[in-house]
Amino acid sequence: MLNTKADAWDIIGSLFWEQGRQSAKPSQPELELFTKGIGEGSRVCVVGASTKDLVDMLLDRGAEVTVYDFSQGMCSSLEQAMGTAPVTIRQLDITAPLDDELTGSYDYVLNDRLINRFTWAEAKSALMNMCTLAHDGEVRASIKLGHYPMDLRMIAMGEERGTLASFYDRETRTIDFSRAGTVLDDALLPHGDIDPALLLEWYRGRAAEKRFEDEDVVSLATAIAPTNGKNAYIVGRDTFADAGDTTLFTFIMH
Ligand code: SAM
Repeated sequence: MLNTKADAWDIIGSLFWEQGRQSAKPSQPELELFTKGIGEGSRVCVVGASTKDLVDMLLDRGAEVTVYDFSQGMCSSLEQAMGTAPVTIRQLDITAPLDDELTGSYDYVLNDRLINRFTWAEAKSALMNMCTLAHDGEVRASIKLGHYPMDLRMIAMGEERGTLASFYDRETRTIDFSRAGTVLDDALLPHGDIDPALLLEWYRGRAAEKRFEDEDVVSLATAIAPTNGKNAYIVGRDTFADAGDTTLFTFIMH
């Protein structure tokens, strides 16, 4: 695996769903929104093994579920947690070139705030791959719009200390946790009950992430060309019930 961001998730594993911040996971109404219309025999892929509650709900609905994650640690933790449940879990980097034979394998490709973990270039590759996986179906991707409270603390501290330019690009609203130095330590906010030392390691490993506005998501859809000359279109926007700054975008290819 060439994507070094996976190392950050290897150290988190099941802590994400066991001890992580509740608001970083989809709530019950948000899970209902994700799974609307999905039933017996639907071919569904979840990108991100951390979204365990969504996997559980999909299995309850009788869907055929595959989970992709680039982190071996996250895959192993989910495998262990799922026991004998009929779910396929595979290691795959959604930003890397996709195997042609996976084209159109799923009716639905779902992911919760995964795009928030990406730079613009990574988000483009990932959305293109997700749209290719759901070639004749739907991609449902929730995206938190705007900055996180911790970003704003870091930006303020970076301004005060004159180090902002070393870890934040204003033009693209991209923050690089690996370059923030002591600003990260000093601006760190709790994430549920996860140990702060581990959190620091996790953020540093997550490295560069773009912050999105609605217009960026529109540009993202326009910038990609999934497969066979199809284009991607946003056909739905639903605001999350318990996280008002997060929108569930539905993309189809046409
Ligand atoms: N809010 C989310 C949740 O409830 O699970 C967490 C954000 S995202 C879904 C986190 C998951 O995506 C982690 O398990 C991480 O390993 C995985 N991930 C991050 N980047 C990835 C990539 N490029 N390819 C595949 N999986 C990735």
